[in-house]
Amino acid sequence: MEEFIPRIGPYLSCLLHSEGVSATTVCQSCRSTPFEWRCTDCFPALVLCKECCRNSHQRLPFHRVQKWTGKYFMPSWLREVGIRLCLGHSGNLCPVRSVRMQQLCVLNHILNLVSQKRDDEEECQEGSSSEDDTDAHLSFGSSKPGRYDKEGHPIMTVVDRSGIHEIGVSWCCCSGAPEHDMQLMMAGLFPATFHNPKTAFTFRVLEDFHLDNLECKTTPSQFFSRLRRLTNDEFPNTVPVGGLSVSM
Ligand SMILES: [Zn+2]
Ligand SMILES: [Zn+2]
Ligand SMILES: [Zn+2]
Repeated sequence: MEEFIPRIGPYLSCLLHSEGVSATTVCQSCRSTPFEWRCTDCFPALVLCKECCRNSHQRLPFHRVQKWTGKYFMPSWLREVGIRLCLGHSGNLCPVRSVRMQQLCVLNHILNLVSQKRDDEEECQEGSSSEDDTDAHLSFGSSKPGRYDKEGHPIMTVVDRSGIHEIGVSWCCCSGAPEHDMQLMMAGLFPATFHNPKTAFTFRVLEDFHLDNLECKTTPSQFFSRLRRLTNDEFPNTVPVGGLSVSM
């Protein structure tokens, strides 16, 4: 204890320093672009620009990231930097899908513009502090069911041992491609439903639960509560469950 007491001050300032960064800091990977993102699962937790964050997470879609707001880091989703799950081609985009996606992207872009315009008009009429805005903020931009990511991929809820993720999925559309539930299984994701799955569990979260249940007698409800807290410590009740935000 005598050795520890003089270190309390420096240790605390080190912890405080890790919560913020200097406004002049640039991306610690390319060292040329202003930083915007930080991954709490990567080691070390570097501050990165959008492109470096995307490049370093192509094969790590279930890392948890935070976005710099100008004053603090706010929890966010990796889909915001362009990460999605690509099924059927060893993690690469399906070549058939990519052609169709270009057409879908244009369509979705138009739909988003129309939807945004309508929302803006409603906001003007109702004021800017609607309940939806509050919900979106608390669940750090969780999507409503049936939404698509910025590239037009349908968003799915994936439960992993790192927490709950909302991420776009790029299905394989090749001739003779397996059903969606089989595509998920082949990628190590157990579908919550067999037809048109919108939620899936990674095999490793199922193994984690099995171990916790065996060793700590953790119930499914306790385990899931922990995952929600892991996803959003401040507002766990806003964490999406199967595409919906529910309150316990
Ligand atoms: Zn960079
Ligand atoms: Zn990471
Ligand atoms: Zn394909």
